[in-house]
Amino acid sequence: MKQSIKEVDVQGKRVLMRVDFNVPIQDGEIVDDRRIQMALPTIQSVLERGGKVTLISHLGRPSGNGFEEAFTLKPVAERLSELLGTTVAFDVPSEASVVLRENLRFDEREKAGDDAFGAMLAEGCDIYCNDAFGTAHRNHASMVAVPRHMDGKPRVAGLLLEKELQYLDETIKHAQVPFIAILGGAKVSDKLGAIDRLIGTVNTIVIGGAMAYTLLAAKGVSIGNSLVEEELLEQSREMLRKADAKGTVIQLPQDHVCATMIADDAETTIVRGNIPNGLMGLDIGPETAISFAEICKQAKTILWNGPMGVFEYEPFSFGTKGVAEAIAEATSQGAVSIVGGGDSAAAISQFGLEMQMTHISTGGGASLQMLEGKEFLSVSLLNDNV
Ligand code: AMP
Repeated sequence: MKQSIKEVDVQGKRVLMRVDFNVPIQDGEIVDDRRIQMALPTIQSVLERGGKVTLISHLGRPSGNGFEEAFTLKPVAERLSELLGTTVAFDVPSEASVVLRENLRFDEREKAGDDAFGAMLAEGCDIYCNDAFGTAHRNHASMVAVPRHMDGKPRVAGLLLEKELQYLDETIKHAQVPFIAILGGAKVSDKLGAIDRLIGTVNTIVIGGAMAYTLLAAKGVSIGNSLVEEELLEQSREMLRKADAKGTVIQLPQDHVCATMIADDAETTIVRGNIPNGLMGLDIGPETAISFAEICKQAKTILWNGPMGVFEYEPFSFGTKGVAEAIAEATSQGAVSIVGGGDSAAAISQFGLEMQMTHISTGGGASLQMLEGKEFLSVSLLNDNV
């Protein structure tokens, strides 16, 4: 485990804290301040113990050629001041207890991982704290060049990062069985690395969403006009063979909610087995939903990444909802449930089940890469717990 901010003496010290304040902003107004709220415990933990913080973050995708009004962190500084009940000094050199610097990505050196930019950010700070899991898989200056320049000083994980590492790394390495993974979403290509690592690690991989159709096609099942990645058919067959050899069951849908178009008023047909030409599989069918729910209910550790269908549209949302409810029920019976960020997190929030999961990751891409077993340079630069 990595050393936590809780374990270092911050009294009289300035902590340089990389946070994720990448919040949606429209016309200068913050639409959703959850990411700011989530950073509060780590910030407060430093302030309560007599430390000061300098916060650094990115926001959106500016060009990297200097200030752009649409991407300024100024509204975040104002919101943060309200939430903390203290003035946040924004983008000025200051001895204030809370300082927020302007959007790191106004400077192209951030994304380039530039060493001198890292050195500039590190100047005058005594402790480095990484609490930005969403960008932990990126070798940007604030993630890797800064901690390199703070060698010899404490470099620690914030409370959010600590929790992500605990679930996406430690829990998976020491998972209680039956250990299952539920994968869905649009593409097999995005999840090949994760499937590869999970084969031989988990007991069962349940696959829904559009990615199931590439695997079904690889097995010779007709999939009509469903989404397919033709170029991955051979690799999919290889994956199925590997799972067989390593004793991991790959469970695919046996029935489907089909339609000719994706719309809220689409007419749907349930198809069992082969899907005729002209129809697209857009959600797992009712029989599959029951069998997937059964597998969830028996599991002790559940990983979920990717929806079972086009859940954004009501006619194709029932499979994802059924699986989410089954995971919630298993969790209430003592299973550990870990949900990857992105679309599965959006689905959980759409169904109002956030409070019923053990852990919902804040990072889409980062959580998937952790599932693949990748080591992050930004994390390896933090001090180990001794
Ligand atoms: P991903 O970003 O790979 O997790 O994919 C999520 C997207 O996959 C969502 O927007 C879903 O609407 C979409 N999706 C899930 N199932 C299907 C399907 N059977 N056909 C087309 N798109 C799907």
